[in-house]
Amino acid sequence: MSKRSCVPWEKADSSGLTRGVNLLHDPLRNQGTSFNEKERDLLGLQGLLPPRVLSQDGQVLRILANYALKPNDLEKYIFLIDLEDRNETLFYRVIMENLSLMMPIIYTPTVGKACQQFGHIFRRPRGLFISAKHKGRIAEVLENWPQDDVRVIVVTDGERILGLGDLGAQGMGIPVGKISLYTACGGIQPATTLPITIDVGTDNVRLLNDPLYIGLPQCRMRGEPYDQLIEEFFTSVQARFPNALIQFEDFANVNAFRLLQKYRDRGCVFNDDIQGTAAVALAGLYSAMRITGGRLRDQTFLFQGAGEAGIGIADLIVTAMVAAGLSDEQARRRCWFFDTKGLVVRDRTHLADHKIPYAHPHPRMETLEDSIQALRPTGILGVSGTPGSFTRPILEKMSTLNKRPIVFALSNPTSKAECTAEEAYVWSQGRAIFASGSPFEPVVIDGNTLIPGQGNNAYIFPGVGLGAVLSRARHVTSEMFMAAARTLAGEVGQSELSHGQLYPPIDNIRSVSAAIAAAVFQVADTQGLSRKPLPDDPIAYVRRKMYVPKYKRYA
Ligand code: NAD
Repeated sequence: MSKRSCVPWEKADSSGLTRGVNLLHDPLRNQGTSFNEKERDLLGLQGLLPPRVLSQDGQVLRILANYALKPNDLEKYIFLIDLEDRNETLFYRVIMENLSLMMPIIYTPTVGKACQQFGHIFRRPRGLFISAKHKGRIAEVLENWPQDDVRVIVVTDGERILGLGDLGAQGMGIPVGKISLYTACGGIQPATTLPITIDVGTDNVRLLNDPLYIGLPQCRMRGEPYDQLIEEFFTSVQARFPNALIQFEDFANVNAFRLLQKYRDRGCVFNDDIQGTAAVALAGLYSAMRITGGRLRDQTFLFQGAGEAGIGIADLIVTAMVAAGLSDEQARRRCWFFDTKGLVVRDRTHLADHKIPYAHPHPRMETLEDSIQALRPTGILGVSGTPGSFTRPILEKMSTLNKRPIVFALSNPTSKAECTAEEAYVWSQGRAIFASGSPFEPVVIDGNTLIPGQGNNAYIFPGVGLGAVLSRARHVTSEMFMAAARTLAGEVGQSELSHGQLYPPIDNIRSVSAAIAAAVFQVADTQGLSRKPLPDDPIAYVRRKMYVPKYKRYA
């Protein structure tokens, strides 16, 4: 039996080809009505398909026509996932040609709704579910995965899904969605990807009481047993898939920082919520500097929310400011945090470890507005998941302090954004340099069309992942994320900047990812972390290696 099938009942013939109905049920190889007459003869498909052979172009038309009939975004999501389950090549062709339309469906914001309702819309499993019940048997569970050559794993424990909190095993929508973006945006071969959910229970009472909840109906495992399970997961993955990059995704911040710290030097590992977010935000700030003409090292940033995203962004800003000539201490002093208990200052007690480097000497402040008045930041970054917290008085205050205030409302999904694009532009008389985590429509102010930048992590992680995979990097470093941020900002054209756009059009994402992957390969080489020689022309090499959603012709 061939190991390369996605279906457990696959039968291959003596030449190793999967045939008949098994082939039609293998989403990696199924071509549906596109199998031609000779292939139908060769592969035992005669009679199993309607007689008329349709080109892939024709199939795309049919998919788009059906897609347009779906009444809402969740139905569109279900339709696309069904397609992915049937025919991955066609799925990727459709997604890649309609990225700006479909990315908000297969990823944020719609994927958030899908995760909330995952148990109710569940059709077929994708990826691997490793649960607390598998303790001591994780290696055996990994053996059940039908592909041996896995290069990219996205793993969550479902505790902090987007800004939606603990969704337990239903968080699986996130690794599935991110894996799709790895292929659609970064050209990672689909057969080499693996989404994983580690189900340690959930503390979400609504889910625990839902008879259709798909995960273990028990409270979260914590402490030592949790750490042991993750350790077993990590060592088993490294043994089974030694070439895999592991991306930690949507872990709660109590675990995210610890796990990143613990594993980043033990393998090719990163946390997208911390490091990917940081790079996309830093790229937005580099673009903002191109608009204002200012220097990053001269800015002062105030973050609302001191979790994974905020601290990750600040840490990378500090790295970039230090690279631009500041000392570490000077750079940290330019980043301030406001959390649920007010401004993060030195004399606050019981601060989480990750906040301590940013707890500067300063009187306590109870409100964000007072903190802005006192610190006079050039930019505010919302990463708290509290919608509406960038109020009109706050935006007006930022606009009196700055000619071009930087306002990043990064919380996802759209319903959690600290302010809308329209609020930011209207309340600042069109002067705000705005970016958000989820997409917003353009806004016209005094005849000027302002196009909000979406600081979507998809600009960064597929390219970083591709670069790490192609260079077979031993580790993923901050320098790689800095290079990714610089490269991304460099891809924004002057005309885009003139409309306030901080990121390149999403439809350019494959060439952006190629440029980022080449930059990451270069850093891996310079840092001695690469296990492959740097090609003479890294961008051309990367482009050659990127997945193209074309059918293989058998005859
Ligand atoms: P997190 O849970 O690690 O951190 C949230 C932080 O916000 C915590 O420090 C919490 O104390 C603080 N907070 C909560 N309510 C607050 C309030 N009313 N005032 C001040 N602080 C408050 O979560 P995270 O991973 O840092 O993500 C935060 C948000 O950022 C989420 O909505 C997430 O979707 C978004 N995010 C966006 C991007 C992006 O735009 N590319 C990437 C990652 C995360």
